[in-house]
Amino acid sequence: MSQHSFRVEAPGKVNLFFAVGPRRPDGYHGVASLYIAVDVAEAVTATFDPLLPPGQIECTLEVVPGSLVDQQHRRGGFDLAQVPMGDSNLAVRAARKAVDRAGGLPGGVRLHIEKAVPVAGGMGGGSADAAAALQATTALIFAVTGRETTVSRSLEIARELGADVPFAMTGGAAVGTGTGADLSPVPVGASWPAVLIADDGALATPAVFARLDALRADGVLPAPGEDELMVPDELLDALAGECVFGVEALRALRNDLQAPALDLAPHLAPRLEELRSTGAVPMVSGSGPTLIALVPHQEFARDLAGQLQQVGAHAVPVLLG
Ligand code: ATP
Repeated sequence: MSQHSFRVEAPGKVNLFFAVGPRRPDGYHGVASLYIAVDVAEAVTATFDPLLPPGQIECTLEVVPGSLVDQQHRRGGFDLAQVPMGDSNLAVRAARKAVDRAGGLPGGVRLHIEKAVPVAGGMGGGSADAAAALQATTALIFAVTGRETTVSRSLEIARELGADVPFAMTGGAAVGTGTGADLSPVPVGASWPAVLIADDGALATPAVFARLDALRADGVLPAPGEDELMVPDELLDALAGECVFGVEALRALRNDLQAPALDLAPHLAPRLEELRSTGAVPMVSGSGPTLIALVPHQEFARDLAGQLQQVGAHAVPVLLG
């Protein structure tokens, strides 16, 4: 049998708006999210190996040179052991679901992850791996067995894998409601320049949500009204237009996970202040601790990232959308 191999990329994301409702009885939170893809992508290659036992999935990982993960790695802030390589790896889980739903394969699958998005950084890196692995494995299954998986079946599997996985399958920009997985794509007029600043630490998303609940229960943070679970038109209009760095759009940025993330990682607050003093508009990305600094133009992003790198920070200029 000839060797079949498919490589698929899936982007990391930031949330320009993330309003979180109260904790629901099922443990989830209703959210209103404006997802936007970052031009930093994970890649997963899925290769069919007829010599592996049917259904076996093996996974390997490499760090993409020059990426934020590489910067963290070189300065001792990233240990490959942070990423589980067995059954709990999101790429492995995605491939397994794809294989099981398709009725199996006459051999195993070797997955190879090229990691560029910080781990547990609030940028959906694991979700991007899941999305890429799902698509690569689906293509592999078709090549090996001729069995097709419909797009709607793939999206169903993506939703089962995590709230951020469907967005990583589609990219671009989208409003996410429900737990974040109900997506409506929104137009992007011009890419938005920004700088991503990774931290040496990690924040577990469930811990950040739990801290948000606790701060609200203690009255430190206000509980949101139902009407707040909507992405504001000012932000969507700015995203669809040519000029994204306008006052109204910047005022509409919101991340309800920022306060609990700063509570858990207080060293991020002075960093946000320093970034603000450069003229950038910084915020915590998702559940953090990665920071995203929005800037007026690409040259600004390159200069700021360069200056941050010179003082030892892990920073890269990016385009959103
Ligand atoms: P999100 O913003 O979607 O909540 P995140 O970007 O903060 O996620 P991830 O990098 O997706 O965080 O990983 C969260 C945890 O999932 C990690 O601490 C790690 O133990 C586990 N994990 C499982 N599979 C992967 C993977 N392929 N890449 C990274 N982490 C993974």
